[in-house]
Amino acid sequence: MNQKKVLAIGAHYDDMEQFCGGTLLLLRKQGYDILIAVLTAGECGTNELSAKEIVKIRQKEAKLGAKKIGAKVTCLNIRDGCVSYDLETTKKIVKLMREYQPQIIFTHPTVDYMTDHAHTGQLVLWAVPEATHPNFPVETNAPALEKQPWVYHTDPQGLIGLDGQIVRVNTIVDISEVVETKLSAFASHKSQIGFLKVESSGRTIDSVEKTRRWAITRGQQARVEYGEGFMQQLLEQYPRKNILSEALKDRVFTL
Ligand SMILES: [Zn+2]
Repeated sequence: MNQKKVLAIGAHYDDMEQFCGGTLLLLRKQGYDILIAVLTAGECGTNELSAKEIVKIRQKEAKLGAKKIGAKVTCLNIRDGCVSYDLETTKKIVKLMREYQPQIIFTHPTVDYMTDHAHTGQLVLWAVPEATHPNFPVETNAPALEKQPWVYHTDPQGLIGLDGQIVRVNTIVDISEVVETKLSAFASHKSQIGFLKVESSGRTIDSVEKTRRWAITRGQQARVEYGEGFMQQLLEQYPRKNILSEALKDRVFTL
């Protein structure tokens, strides 16, 4: 296993830049290879264009966003809005994991208002142990993972959980140094910026501004300017050590 490989698995092309782009940038600077894998090509990210038209646009935007992070990007071509928690999708993710052999995985949380996101988080937790089992049936010659990788769940949309509260995280990464690059990478997904606008105190804010606000909120918890929050997966069998602290040193706060 290459010890410096990061796999960021999101539902849509812009998700990983939005939720963990700063941390990916910092890991890239430490020499990590970064692969952003999205489950869907984002057919639902429009109210005007056809599925074919929006996918073409989003593929171009994704290349640009990934380039700014220093990452590669790939898509599993599941239809947007249709990410299901099922065996077929799990097999696709196991195949991806075996072929890439990541040490660290970032993905969505298992609860999010957007079901594609929540299912992606759940699918990763199904796929990780099976990626280590050589007899789990997957069509690839790539070997099973030797060790269970580290998994970090990002924040949900709006940082908000089912109870309306800001969700608990156990890790905050200080992304102040790279926040503008992160936001610029996220802004590469131009077709989505206005599409995902929200109302705030009677004013419309676009998703770049919204993402900056989340980073300020997470930063405050660690008394730094901008942060990204994560829940390190600590279920039985997952590694206990916080590998991000080792990789990114004093930029990481374990809460
Ligand atoms: Zn998404």
